[in-house]
Amino acid sequence: MKMISLLGSTGSIGVNTLDVVRQNRNRFSVSAMAAGNNVELFAQQVKEFKPSLISVFNLSKVSLLKELLQDEDVEILCGEEGSLKVATHPESSLVVSAIVGSAGLVPSLAAIQSGKDLALANKETLVIAGELVLRETNGKANLIPIDSEHSAILQALNGEKKELIKKIVLTGSGGPFRTFTKEQMRNVTVKEALNHPNWKMGAKITIDSATMMNKGLEYIEAKWLFGLDTCVEIIVHPQSIIHSMIEFVDTSIIAQLGIPDMRVPIAYALTYPDRIECTLPSLDLAAIKQLTFEEPDYEKFPCIKLAQEALEAGHSMPAVLNAANEVAVQAFLDEKIPFKDISEIIRMAMNNHKSHNIDSLEDVLLADRWARKEVKKLITVIH
Ligand code: NDP
Repeated sequence: MKMISLLGSTGSIGVNTLDVVRQNRNRFSVSAMAAGNNVELFAQQVKEFKPSLISVFNLSKVSLLKELLQDEDVEILCGEEGSLKVATHPESSLVVSAIVGSAGLVPSLAAIQSGKDLALANKETLVIAGELVLRETNGKANLIPIDSEHSAILQALNGEKKELIKKIVLTGSGGPFRTFTKEQMRNVTVKEALNHPNWKMGAKITIDSATMMNKGLEYIEAKWLFGLDTCVEIIVHPQSIIHSMIEFVDTSIIAQLGIPDMRVPIAYALTYPDRIECTLPSLDLAAIKQLTFEEPDYEKFPCIKLAQEALEAGHSMPAVLNAANEVAVQAFLDEKIPFKDISEIIRMAMNNHKSHNIDSLEDVLLADRWARKEVKKLITVIH
């Protein structure tokens, strides 16, 4: 029986992870879970999966959670301390990191430091602290990506040496505005941006898909996971059937295909390097008929280049890119800024930042805090 700690159980990845556990009760059990605010759903999950320890981030929700779970035998904690206890629960051998944003970093790092395998959905962890995370992981734990693209690359790599990779081809759907003109994109609404053509995900990553920052973050994630020297190319593939591919030095290309359902890469991460049966429909290529590909439009989606520039600049810049993006995306969701300003604000924050070394967690958090403050200031100045 594999014992799992689940960070972010009430989110899109969390709910899908619990569904994989539900279908495989003989293999997996949840020993600890953490959530943010949604205590109603959290309480239902606790009643079903019976973890011995849980934590809710929002302190003001603890009393309601305790009330909802008064008949359950479960230890209830809160805040970042609580998430850390979940991430390092002594019974768990694997931690699923599915908190959204840079809030996922500290518990993910703690999980690795306590020697647990990390199934990583929270790409922000690698974006802002890739070097630190790899240093801590080294030999101590397995780092298994949940992101469908990186899971595809891991599956395509399938034991081959990383040195044999000529390039990684990262696919992306292009999001809801792929066919929009720049003019049309000026006035898009939150509702339109949240309407992803292929994937049902949390709000932040859905907006990241609309700006294509998601592909930029995944570019950084791929570099950390598969080697900073590896060439990574981005290609738009609107059907989201090929989840990514590797071209090897002999020009042979291996791709991973499947229906766009996150339960597939989640199940793979939970069982890696094995596989388990999934009761999902098979991919019907004859019904899909066509798989198409196009170059990303870097002018229409400037966030991709911003992410590449941040990685190139290194040091604290990726943490600034990420935090600036998180604050700008939230401001867009709150209808405080228009869609087109997301990339502009990130660019301004990056321009204003004096990059510093990242030698410790505190250095990452310093850059993160700086960027959040800077972007809030920029938003009040601009609007
Ligand atoms: P959601 O917004 O759906 O869920 C986020 C989860 O994190 C919720 O459970 C939320 O709790 C919890 N949470 C937020 N802040 C905190 C905090 N400070 N402490 C503890 N818990 C917290 O996001 P997704 O599931 O879509 O995405 C999660 C991560 O996975 C992101 O990094 C995303 O980029 C990545 N990812 C997601 C994919 C997807 O298909 N959704 C695909 C690939 C990667 P609550 O809801 O209770 O407030």
